[in-house]
Amino acid sequence: MPANELHQLTIHEAHKLLKQRKISSTELTKSVLKRVAEIEGKVHACVTIVEDIALKEAKKVDNYIKTAHEITPLTGIPTLIKDVICTKGIRTTCSSKILENFVPLYDATVIEKLKAQKAVIVGKTNMDEFAMGSSTEHSAFFPTHNPWDLSRVPGGSSGGSAAAVAADETIYALGSDTGGSVRQPAALCSVVGLKPTYGRVSRFGLVAFASSLDQIGPITKDVTDCALVMNAIAGYDSSDSTSVPYPVPDYTRQLIPDIKGLRIGIPREYFVEGMQNQVRAALEAAIDKLRELGAEIDWEVSLPHTKYALAVYYVLAPSEASANLARYDGVKYGFSERDASNVIETTERTRQFGFGLEVKRRIMLGTYALSAGYYNAYYLKAQKVRTLIKQEFDQAFEKYDALVTPTSPIVPFKLGEKLEDPMQMYLSDICTLPINIAGIPAISIPAGFADNLPIGMQIMGKPFSEEILLRIAFAYEQATNWHKRKPPLL
Ligand code: GLN
Repeated sequence: MPANELHQLTIHEAHKLLKQRKISSTELTKSVLKRVAEIEGKVHACVTIVEDIALKEAKKVDNYIKTAHEITPLTGIPTLIKDVICTKGIRTTCSSKILENFVPLYDATVIEKLKAQKAVIVGKTNMDEFAMGSSTEHSAFFPTHNPWDLSRVPGGSSGGSAAAVAADETIYALGSDTGGSVRQPAALCSVVGLKPTYGRVSRFGLVAFASSLDQIGPITKDVTDCALVMNAIAGYDSSDSTSVPYPVPDYTRQLIPDIKGLRIGIPREYFVEGMQNQVRAALEAAIDKLRELGAEIDWEVSLPHTKYALAVYYVLAPSEASANLARYDGVKYGFSERDASNVIETTERTRQFGFGLEVKRRIMLGTYALSAGYYNAYYLKAQKVRTLIKQEFDQAFEKYDALVTPTSPIVPFKLGEKLEDPMQMYLSDICTLPINIAGIPAISIPAGFADNLPIGMQIMGKPFSEEILLRIAFAYEQATNWHKRKPPLL
């Protein structure tokens, strides 16, 4: 492969070439940086690019590789990180004006883990402000465009990460997923995105949106890469009290093209009203393929509490957000509006000018749901329904190894199309929200196209069943070619 096309490689392909010393990390990083320079003007996936830091690191890694006996799968491989994950010395904005100049003094645990593998961080990706949104249009800086059709959204909130991976502006990326923010943009950009089990990956250094739902996950070009990134980032962390002390398996172990005898259920509630016909048809064909590959498919599954998931999410997530975002008071860090006569006014004006409209909407919804007199009617009730949703999944997973659904009921929509209608925007995540509510893992993989616009399939499983999800995803990927298609850019 010519040196100027190396950005097209997957992690496992690049790793092989690095190990054989056929390419260097510097060449690989330069190819990625060149690609970014060429197409960022169209895609706008990145908030910050740290060319000097990346090239310096790549050079260091190249010196290391010269004498090393073994290198880890991520050694020397460039990556982009969603701008909600703290990177020491690199600006971390959450695509918000309030954190526009915030430079963290420490690395998130996932970043420490990537650095321990000698990964090369190239920059930070655009997102909906504080991860609130499904289109990346709520970024305070600029919207990201979908590489498959630049007039459409890449999904969100990790739209920058997903668009960058799809457009080969990086070899892989990290995102975060509170209600679908890794999987929905992965689906809309035709890449792989995994939301791990709650507690599987440390949240330390992930700027909090809704702490009981947030989880960091990989966005990659194929399933093998997803497993490799999981190997690097999963595991217990004493700095995150909700991380779980289970041993981390080798997630590549079950990447075998065989799913014979696995029981897969298709919950009918996910084939929702308003779902596009071509999405339905693609999903039916994908499920047929799983059957051909030996899975036992049951179309008669029902999860009746699914219909409450959207309401539950939009009580719980804003409630937690309203508490988490109270820290932005313009005193300790971040943007501060000092043109005020007293401290109350400073806080008020800081938030007035620092937060965008969607963030303010969430804070108001959450504050309302938590206020005296309404707490029982909204927050407490939503918590109870959350338990019912979780129990329903537990029961389903007594019978099935996995459940399969569309990731998004629709293909990427036009920029601006849903911006004025929050309810329509919220409905984008109808198939992904229940998974966060239940704390279970789910992966989205490419499953076809409707008029050249990507369609994703979601595979979910019981807590800590990531290996099974990856196995099903891998078998499907090996039997299809969707993941090999590239967007018609340049
Ligand atoms: N789109 C959902 C929201 O706006 C989910 C976002 C996310 O997963 N971070 O809250």
